[in-house]
Amino acid sequence: MTVPAMERLVRAARDTRGYVAAWRAAHPDGKVLGVMPMNFPRELAHAAGLLPVIVPDDQEPVTEGRALLPEFYCGFTRNLADQVATGRLDLYDAVFMADHCIQLVGAADVARQLQPETPVFFGMLATSLSDAWAGQKVAEMMNTFREEVEALSGSKVTDESLRASIAAYNADRRALRQIFDERTAGSTAWAPTELQDLVASAMVMDPVEHLALLELARAEKVGQPRDERVRVHLSGHMCHAPRRELLQVIEDSGALVVDDDLWTGRRFLSTDVDEVLEPMEAIGHWYTSRNGNLPCPTRVQHDADWDTWLVESTERSGAEAVIHLMPKFCEPHMLLYPELRKRLDAEGIAQLLIETEHEGIPLEAFRTRVEALVERVLRKRPAYA
Ligand code: SF4
Repeated sequence: MTVPAMERLVRAARDTRGYVAAWRAAHPDGKVLGVMPMNFPRELAHAAGLLPVIVPDDQEPVTEGRALLPEFYCGFTRNLADQVATGRLDLYDAVFMADHCIQLVGAADVARQLQPETPVFFGMLATSLSDAWAGQKVAEMMNTFREEVEALSGSKVTDESLRASIAAYNADRRALRQIFDERTAGSTAWAPTELQDLVASAMVMDPVEHLALLELARAEKVGQPRDERVRVHLSGHMCHAPRRELLQVIEDSGALVVDDDLWTGRRFLSTDVDEVLEPMEAIGHWYTSRNGNLPCPTRVQHDADWDTWLVESTERSGAEAVIHLMPKFCEPHMLLYPELRKRLDAEGIAQLLIETEHEGIPLEAFRTRVEALVERVLRKRPAYA
């Protein structure tokens, strides 16, 4: 029996280990690279013949890894430490990260300490993107990444192979963006959990295979007119996916998610790699331009503000409210949040902050708060008065 495309994508998204095992069976000499979010250019590793997998929070409870990082580290990094402690991170032949957050560096140190047989490569990319030297520094680090993936794979990254990988990932991103745009336009009703699975599977799968399934899944999707629920934008949640049950509660509480800037959403899709520039130059340009397209609280750039982007985004999508999803103890998000709140208040946009936990999230309390937000927005609608 043929398995529907959507079901295959969901499996890849939720069972990384199963997908990697199948890939290894088909590529007996192939190596799998664990890539930490959110800045490593997977195109480089793919061009070297590796399977680059963005290491997910596998949503398992934190057990043996509990003592390895302080309790005030974010759930994602504590989950990574637990993946190391319980041997789940042995899925990867090596782990690469482009630094963006001190908590993630802590998790990488745990991997180095407990799993010394797995190479962990740590590269610093410029975080202050307005500095005159940022472009040069980024280019140097991208060249180092290239050398490291070549050493790991034993294959050269030629300009030709890199161009092919860039084209493959761009095509997959474009197709995903089209689906996200259809959701925002209201022409197709994709639930946030479905979109999360589409993006999470893209983070794991080979891009050519993913694109083929994505096109089938899009064709299988039945169009459905938008209903009258309150239109909301989901914002935040760096590095890992919000819990599916939380997304479900949001939509069950009278809200309809029409757009987002989640890492497992539009943030992941925000920027293609230029196919006209020389490929290595294009890879550096991809990194330095992403923050302008969708600002990230882990980067600094004078002409890119997340709050301005958020206001403009709600104007484009017609979102009536913003729900901030903040992983507990995510410092970059916590630091930026007061600015976001102030700006949205000034613009009269209704908002709600939900601090997410790695496990044991109080779903019913969240339901009550989302229902209250929905009620507030409905009272502002002209037809309600
Ligand atoms: S950016 Fe936030 S979610 Fe990501 S590793 Fe840092 S603290 Fe954790």
